[in-house]
Amino acid sequence: MALQVQPKLIIHGGAGSSLQGKGGLVAVRSSLTEIVEEVYSLLLNGGSSADAVVKGCQLLEDNPRFNAGTGSVLQSDGQIRMSASLMDGNSGHFSGVINVARVKNPIDMALFLQSSSDRVLSDYGAAELARELQIPTHNALTDLRLHEWIQEREENFNKTMAGVVAEPEMAKNSEAGRGTIGVVALDGTGKLAAGTSTGGKGFERIGRVSDSAMPAGNYATQYAGVSCTGIGEDIIDECLAAKIVIRVSDGMSLQEAMLKSFTEANKNQRDLGAIALDANGVISYGKTCEVLLAAYHNGDSIGDTLEWNDGKLIGYC
Ligand code: ASP
Repeated sequence: MALQVQPKLIIHGGAGSSLQGKGGLVAVRSSLTEIVEEVYSLLLNGGSSADAVVKGCQLLEDNPRFNAGTGSVLQSDGQIRMSASLMDGNSGHFSGVINVARVKNPIDMALFLQSSSDRVLSDYGAAELARELQIPTHNALTDLRLHEWIQEREENFNKTMAGVVAEPEMAKNSEAGRGTIGVVALDGTGKLAAGTSTGGKGFERIGRVSDSAMPAGNYATQYAGVSCTGIGEDIIDECLAAKIVIRVSDGMSLQEAMLKSFTEANKNQRDLGAIALDANGVISYGKTCEVLLAAYHNGDSIGDTLEWNDGKLIGYC
């Protein structure tokens, strides 16, 4: 199939204050580069933006380095509950699952829900759907995540509320919880899609809802697509993904929309990051935190933001 436009792709493996908790620069770069290569070749072969986003999210969910799918962080009660969403900018449909457990790829459930009349399902409903779809049970727990949880909890096991209530300071200071994944793609027909998947921020209260399965954290139209990472409450307060995309849909350039939105977020002392793409093929990324683990394919070559440290709030290419 002849491509009408040059496909573009950007993915992320979370944000935070250092790369150390994720295995260091070399390891993160090679994980992200490999995934960009595989997903970009799907786009070059005529795959749709939604196909590319789902494939990219599956690969990132399956990589235990990142906090989504296998390798998800544990909540305050030691359980894993994952959330994921998919937005097809062409159909204009958002779908997702919130706090689902024991499945390998939450993004697959978001994909299934694209064509359903009920498009966002939470815990009990998501579990029922997994059963209906006969999705095999999967244990997403890794030794590393278990040890991180035990270490963080060591002094708290005696507290009466341990296991039910999140400790915000702990979650905020912990690097373990940072690492949500996301993908935004522009396909060869000029269509955009965005997907985001997470194990949450770690140590959260049972029932806490992540931004990753909300339009605040993942949004796309025919004009732009955005996937966010960082402290979900900050992302929700800024309504970041939807805000950037709507600014572009209303006529602002992606660079202007990103700069305006990140300047606001920074002023409000939010702790977050985002990746973005517009229908013209402009790739952009932004952060108010120290590090953003993003990588992209601009049609010619692969680049990443792992060493991006010029003090600016946004970058683009
Ligand atoms: N945004 C995710 C959440 O708060 C966490 C992250 O991006 O690292 O659930």
